[in-house]
Amino acid sequence: MKIQEIFDTYNNYIMPTYIKLPLIFVKGKGSRLWDIHGKAYLDFFPGWGVGNLGHCHPKVMAAVKDQISKLIFIPNNYYHIHQAKLAKEIVFWTYPAKVFFCNSGAEANEVAIKFSRKFGQGRYEIITFDNSFHGRTLAALAATGQKKYQDGFSPLPEGFKTVKFNDIEAVKSAIIDKTVAIMVELIQGEGGINVAERDFVLELRKICNDRNLLLIIDEVQTGLGRTGKMFCYQHYGITPDIMTLAKALGGGLPIGTMVVKKEIADTLGPGMHASTFGGGPVICKAALAVLRAIQKEKLLTNTQKMSEYLFLKLKELKNKYSIIKEIRGIGLMAGVELSIEGKIIVEKCIEKGLLINCTHDKVLRLMPALSITKKEIDKAMNILDSVLSNANIR
Ligand SMILES: *Cc1c(COP(=O)(O)O)cnc(C)c1O
Repeated sequence: MKIQEIFDTYNNYIMPTYIKLPLIFVKGKGSRLWDIHGKAYLDFFPGWGVGNLGHCHPKVMAAVKDQISKLIFIPNNYYHIHQAKLAKEIVFWTYPAKVFFCNSGAEANEVAIKFSRKFGQGRYEIITFDNSFHGRTLAALAATGQKKYQDGFSPLPEGFKTVKFNDIEAVKSAIIDKTVAIMVELIQGEGGINVAERDFVLELRKICNDRNLLLIIDEVQTGLGRTGKMFCYQHYGITPDIMTLAKALGGGLPIGTMVVKKEIADTLGPGMHASTFGGGPVICKAALAVLRAIQKEKLLTNTQKMSEYLFLKLKELKNKYSIIKEIRGIGLMAGVELSIEGKIIVEKCIEKGLLINCTHDKVLRLMPALSITKKEIDKAMNILDSVLSNANIR
């Protein structure tokens, strides 16, 4: 297919649900991507949060190649070794727990919602937060505290109450007899890189303990080393009752996971929830390779080091450009809030070979691979610098 034919075919045959950039990619390696013209890009937003290991990690490729030549799929009414190993490995990194495997972040949150209702035995209401994002299926959407995603899809499932983020009094006054859980992202990703305050999170944990509520932490975007610890909750010294994972876990392949505290995990029994593809052999082997690579390549340490450097550089830019209002984030999850729309900045960066994202209209989002180097950060910051210098003049 010729280039124009690819665009036309998308227009004619693919539902227009995504706002797309006119880029056609053919190859990726680490933090680099190549488009169909052979132009190279430095990717500071690999896979929309999926690419914690960057593109095409050799260990993930090897795991997948090996497994597809042996057994591609086996359903969940049988056993296979890789699901067992992956579950054990995830629990090793978290807390005594059992896991449920599905295929995406929304699905992981969906089962967390179902779990909570079953656990509640009549209590069903879940408290969530303004500007949160939990996925696009109906219940996950109802949990999502952003009207723009919900418009036109009512009636949404009942049983959700959305309150102000980082406001513990708002949480307290929202709790009723029917409340069963609090669902929260510790760094709101789509919501603009808003970091949960320490005291707020400690209080949430305490409230959940006192009132027998489940604390559900959505780590779909923050998990798997993104913040310099394996999971973001580990920065706060608390443990969730339920954690949901997806994006980076499969190294580019689709997987979602709900991790439930062991004491309550058997709340969902045989036949109460299912996922045909969940936890298949190829994806589980890929995910194991991801967890091992994070450990073997010391990516948590690299994330912490590169985080310091990245935030230092971003602060330099903030001092230089008045359109930068605030820098936020932890680890390699950085938000740069602007006083102008970020779209134009993103487009200009792309022209110069740097891929970044803008969320919540005005927040540039940088989430490079955990293996990013100082040199690559320098290159990205130089591009951003030159783009901002032009933006300032206009
Ligand atoms: C992306 C995301 C989801 C939804 O994940 P999908 O795999 O797209 O369904 C849920 N929660 C958070 C925090 C996310 O960033």
